[in-house]
Amino acid sequence: MTIPQSWDARAKSASFFGFTDFPSINERGTVIVTHGKGPYIYDTEGRSYLDANSGLWNMVAGFDHEGLIAAAKAQFDTFPGYHAFFGRMSDQTVMLSEKLVAVSPFERAKVFYTNSGSEANDTMVKMLWFLNASEGNPQKRKILTRVNGYHGVTVVSASMTGKPYNSVFGLPLDGFIHLGCPHYWRFGAAGETEAEFTARLGRELEETIAREGADTIAGFFAEPVQGAGGVIPPSQGYFQTIVPILKKHGIPLIADEVITGFGRTGEMWGCETYGFTPDAIISSKNLTAGFFPMGAVILGPDLADRLQAAADAIEEFPHGFTASGHPVGCAIALKAIDVIENEGLLENVRSLTPYFEAGLARLAENPNIGEWRGKGLMGALEAVKDKDTKTPFDGSLSVSERIANTCTDHGLLCRPLGQSIVLAPAFIMTEPQMDEMFDKLGAALKQVF
Ligand code: PLP
Repeated sequence: MTIPQSWDARAKSASFFGFTDFPSINERGTVIVTHGKGPYIYDTEGRSYLDANSGLWNMVAGFDHEGLIAAAKAQFDTFPGYHAFFGRMSDQTVMLSEKLVAVSPFERAKVFYTNSGSEANDTMVKMLWFLNASEGNPQKRKILTRVNGYHGVTVVSASMTGKPYNSVFGLPLDGFIHLGCPHYWRFGAAGETEAEFTARLGRELEETIAREGADTIAGFFAEPVQGAGGVIPPSQGYFQTIVPILKKHGIPLIADEVITGFGRTGEMWGCETYGFTPDAIISSKNLTAGFFPMGAVILGPDLADRLQAAADAIEEFPHGFTASGHPVGCAIALKAIDVIENEGLLENVRSLTPYFEAGLARLAENPNIGEWRGKGLMGALEAVKDKDTKTPFDGSLSVSERIANTCTDHGLLCRPLGQSIVLAPAFIMTEPQMDEMFDKLGAALKQVF
């Protein structure tokens, strides 16, 4: 057996890449990252890249934030182990829960920890099933989500995800129902106004509830802005339309804020940006500024009380992960929230947003960019073959993949998602770094089209 020598060959020989376009890495090789500084990463070949996606939306304070590193080191020195079971919990976990409750949009709340966003969504579904069964409604199990929603990769969260690729796994499971995506530009009918489009989505929800029966539906999960679906802010008045319908039928609304939580849209929570209060929040990613794998379910008062009653009834909530509420993760999360609140990161998002939007709008003048869209520091440019008819490109290697590959050649990492190029810069990005990002992306667009 020959032993591979290059980093690229070693990576391909012994590791499996998820969510990766294999023709691209077979032709171009992989990027093996060694370290990062601010919004830049560096690879084994000595190349540097400006990361326009802050890791996977999560490295909001950059890759080498000294305070976050110090918080992690301090907790590793104090107590790197964990106890999250059987009546035990780390002091860091207690403090983080108090902090999360304080910054949540809820008057009262309770927090449950996981290691990822997928697990947090799965946990939330189990909580709903558990409390419904305990309340005498074991049939109240169906889950409503949306086309182009992304909620994770575990069996339940993948079933919630509204992307066709999950069919290769035989998913979704039965009982996971995908409603329309609130993307007016793409899905609005000819001659339909945005208000009419939103009203149509409201009617679809009403009809679905009537067809399935409210007493069979456990919850409605929605990202305030769909992220991995291609950065899709809701159509005008969307949440104002669906929230009263859900309330009327007693269906909890769960805001999946794995991307939008902790400032991405300019407020602490995406639900604040869009003016609604959900029944629970799913959090991960920015929760630790990407420095530790951690997720959380934050239950608002009604669900917290009902879950507690259900657990009291059998004297236990039989669910939890080995590393739930890991003290190092909790210490990092406490620091991450402090950084977001007290190092001006929220203000940065707000003050950079107009600059970011202007850059997107400039690039959308390209005849093959059909639409730019975004909220706060998350944005997308959607490529089209024909701007008037919004006809997408075809071909096996998507045009967005070619744009992203060309950007990589220019030392810029941005994400191809469907027909769109997605940008989600770190909250510490400066205007000159944004100029670099848009210059490189603009050059790549010229090269590809
Ligand atoms: N929910 C949303 C909105 C996400 O964007 C993601 C990941 O991108 C997840 C859930 C899943 O999180 P994880 O990858 O940590 O399992």
